[in-house]
Amino acid sequence: MHQLTLAEIARGLADKKFSSEELTKVLLARIAQLDPQLNSFISLTEDLALTQAKAADARRANGESGALLGAPIAHKDLFCTQGIRTSCGSKMLDNFKAPYDATVVAKLAAAGAVTLGKTNMDEFAMGSANESSYYGAVKNPWNLDYVPGGSSGGSAAAVAARLLPAATGTDTGGSIRQPAALTNLTGLKPTYGRVSRWGMIAYASSLDQGGPLARTAEDCAILLQGMAGFDPNDSTSIDEPVPDYSASLNGSLQGLRIGVPKEYFSAGLDPRIAELIHNSVKELEKLGAVIKEISLPNMQHAIPAYYVIAPAEASSNLSRFDGVRFGYRCEDPKNLEDLYKRSRGEGFGPEVQRRIMVGAYALSAGYYDAYYLKAQKIRRLIKNDFMTAFNEVDIILGPTTPNPAWKLGAKNSDPVAAYLEDVYTITANLAGLPGLSMPAGFVDGLPVGVQLLAPYFQEGRLLNVAHQYQLNTDWHTRTPTGF
Ligand code: GLN
Repeated sequence: MHQLTLAEIARGLADKKFSSEELTKVLLARIAQLDPQLNSFISLTEDLALTQAKAADARRANGESGALLGAPIAHKDLFCTQGIRTSCGSKMLDNFKAPYDATVVAKLAAAGAVTLGKTNMDEFAMGSANESSYYGAVKNPWNLDYVPGGSSGGSAAAVAARLLPAATGTDTGGSIRQPAALTNLTGLKPTYGRVSRWGMIAYASSLDQGGPLARTAEDCAILLQGMAGFDPNDSTSIDEPVPDYSASLNGSLQGLRIGVPKEYFSAGLDPRIAELIHNSVKELEKLGAVIKEISLPNMQHAIPAYYVIAPAEASSNLSRFDGVRFGYRCEDPKNLEDLYKRSRGEGFGPEVQRRIMVGAYALSAGYYDAYYLKAQKIRRLIKNDFMTAFNEVDIILGPTTPNPAWKLGAKNSDPVAAYLEDVYTITANLAGLPGLSMPAGFVDGLPVGVQLLAPYFQEGRLLNVAHQYQLNTDWHTRTPTGF
């Protein structure tokens, strides 16, 4: 039963082949048995899950239906869950029980989804390896000596290991797409404003966006349907109708114009990944797509701009964790200043502290114009590059990451080496565009992802292309040995 996708689960529940309660019990037992190898969960919510599963079964017995009614999922541990620890992977919030549900959590619960637990993540979503968590590193099910990617690494590892069919993640610079690529999943970062950020603990507010991680595009469509939509509680949420994503899956790709940016194939890209990306292009050509080389001339400036803007926003967002209002407080503070200093010094890990310092520096008087303002101008140039490209093509295709997963600890002493792994993903966040990563093959037994980017609100187009690709390839069906 653990091999079933969300779509198969929906059919099985509708046909009364099994109940949500039975399925939930199977998956909870599987998590108990296998997760000690992966460390993909921070908290399990068995009681809540069984209550929700029984309620979903009762709703189905009363004639209700719905793709998520009775479907087991998990939430990245930065979505607030009422009465349940919401740690953000940090000692700072180890004791924090959210007083309310994030909009995403509430919407999915209302649709009948069953929450099995809260997944591990990089501390405050800062990272690309899921090694900065206070709760320890997450392991990649494809090779337990390797990282699963981050920061939604717990969600990715759990879904890839078939502990559950799908989970939520968030993507500020790639944290849905990059772990999806490194664990052989399909992951979608929606258009900025498509999914409410209310109750999603903020890292960099102008970049953060929640989205689905699953094994197939079909399942991402189902989960996104439950997450997306206008929310008056989030002033950046956009009041646009949500299309039927599952209905968009089956369109033909005949005549679809795919742009492949020449800047993507530079020296930093592993040539074996380049070859797999070219293979995926050929596959899509067979399905009727037309390929065109394009240029994104300002791409080289994306990493420096992102690593000014994201830390700047983080330094502001994380100022609320002061030992007074939320979370960790140091022992026996001597005075107010000592309370602030030690609570933050002891509560935040080294990567979070590094980002707060970089961000505060970039925003300080005298440096604001030189760093923050400059980075914002680069951001506009990057967006303009995409707007120009999307005049000529419908989709942009390239690698999700320049390298496959790396060994645990390999980039720990060199944060910039890890930052460089974000080179293909962060531009979509800077521009606010939707992006999807899907399985495209393997290098040394480790998964590789291909990334698709689309114009604003064209999530349906991304899902359509990915679904058609998945109907004609079997990379996404491969299962890691031992799981
Ligand atoms: N790796 C990037 C960072 O560390 C992206 C993280 C994310 O998307 N949350 O900022």
